[in-house]
Amino acid sequence: PLVSGDSIRRRFLDFYASRGHKVLPSSSLVPDDPTVLLTIAGMLQFKPIFLGKQLNVQVPRQVPRATTAQRCIRTNDVENVGRTARHHTFFEMLGNFSFGDYFKKEAIRWAWELSTVEFGLPADRLWVSVYEDDDEAFEIWHDEVGVPVERIKRMGEDDNFWTSGVTGPCGPCSELYYDFHPERGYTNSVSVHYFLFFFLFLCRMGVLGRRLLRGKADLGDDTRFIEFYNLVFMQYNKKDDGSLEPLKQKNIDTGLGLERVARILQKVPNNYETDLIYPIIKRASELANVSYELADDRSKMNLKILGDHLRAIVYLISDGVVPSNIGRGYVVRRLIRRAVRTGKLLGINGDGRGNLEGAFLPEIAERVIELSIHVDADVKNRAARILGELKREELRFVQTLERGEKLLEQMLADALLSAQENKTAPCLSGKNAFLLYDTYGFPVEITTEVAEERGVSIDMAGFDVEMENQRRQSQAAHNAVKLEVENSADLTQHVPDTEFLGYETLSARAVVESLMV
Ligand code: ATP
Ligand code: MG
Ligand code: MG
Ligand code: MG
Repeated sequence: PLVSGDSIRRRFLDFYASRGHKVLPSSSLVPDDPTVLLTIAGMLQFKPIFLGKQLNVQVPRQVPRATTAQRCIRTNDVENVGRTARHHTFFEMLGNFSFGDYFKKEAIRWAWELSTVEFGLPADRLWVSVYEDDDEAFEIWHDEVGVPVERIKRMGEDDNFWTSGVTGPCGPCSELYYDFHPERGYTNSVSVHYFLFFFLFLCRMGVLGRRLLRGKADLGDDTRFIEFYNLVFMQYNKKDDGSLEPLKQKNIDTGLGLERVARILQKVPNNYETDLIYPIIKRASELANVSYELADDRSKMNLKILGDHLRAIVYLISDGVVPSNIGRGYVVRRLIRRAVRTGKLLGINGDGRGNLEGAFLPEIAERVIELSIHVDADVKNRAARILGELKREELRFVQTLERGEKLLEQMLADALLSAQENKTAPCLSGKNAFLLYDTYGFPVEITTEVAEERGVSIDMAGFDVEMENQRRQSQAAHNAVKLEVENSADLTQHVPDTEFLGYETLSARAVVESLMV
């Protein structure tokens, strides 16, 4: 590639090292922090320092600036995987941090220099956002850096006020966006404005209306822009009651998405086609016997899901997460199951190399491990454990799927029989479809497809009712957990571990679902 992902990581760290930052290692995906399940950002390991508590072992008091390449997991983006060009469940966040040292001015200037000089991005392709009332940041971008006002957007709390969790250090932020289509200009055409006006009128200036008016419509347009760098001006501590308490020191916390910058610099249509992920996709496509280039959109998306999930799975297991039915263990279990099903949809049988009793995830995981050397050198040493765990979990899930298939056959036979007796059209109840989904991991689309082949329809309304019931139950369970763990160490310890078999204990499962955020 033009610029390898590894070299982007190295150049970022070098850039900030030569500006007085100490290069520190990534922390584990399993955070030392009761308020979050997994490491979602680079700042997490520095939270005590931002809060003015002393200082974790890694960072002695005399380190006022640090820089890291932090591996991150965001389960809230799982639905985006393969659908947007820019979201992963696993990604690397490059960050520079100031602990009561430099603040807005330096953070903004260096971010600009890094982007335009070090990475050579054309200045006129860069847009920035600032928090709606942050005039100081606006002025630095405009007066000192020289970004024209048309390319500075003021945005609201959703986008430009960053918090790591329900409580903790937070502050207004400023984001950098890259424009893939500058020819589309600063504003929409006149006719689009007329259309917009009527549209806003129609939705009575609702939430959507206000977002569009704020200019979010521009920067949120995935086909034109990509957000790649977020600078957080960390100056408050959010308390339990939601109030903001000013921190003793003003801090800087930033995050730059490695895969996103690689996508821009390597001039590929999405993050998945960068050298950081494509080799994994390539391996998956060999096992599936399809060509990524020639594949239809659906298969392409499935290959991207494999490319994404295998990275997440490997790094989670490497950091000590074991598939289970609770907490982090359930995160990795869900990712593994989704990967197995995705592989089946792509037509991968057994290990994909002729052994029908074998597992294919370890075959792809090997490629992830080969690529891991500059992400986390420990992964290679843990390869045997990772591959073994993965194989066991995959084969176990395949067995469950097979049991589900048998059950589905039985259910369909019953439905046909009772339809014949009652002279009605054959239909599979919503309860049964839900049982297959919930207990045996059958997506309802697959159940529908198989049922239709036999001339049996599915009571989708009934299925939706069951889903809604479950959603309500997990919400209730979630609230219960929140009350219970108000002052406690680890959310995950409050749910008894359960063997995956039928989920008789729905509430335990519901709790787990609610912890997935
Ligand atoms: P987006 O709006 O695109 O979802 P975000 O605002 O949620 O991104 P931040 O919380 O600001 O992201 O994280 C800092 C940086 O980390 C982002 O600017 C982006 O480059 C990167 N990043 C965030 N989420 C993801 C993800 N799911 N996959 C890949 N990179 C990500
Ligand atoms: Mg996001
Ligand atoms: Mg954003
Ligand atoms: Mg952001």
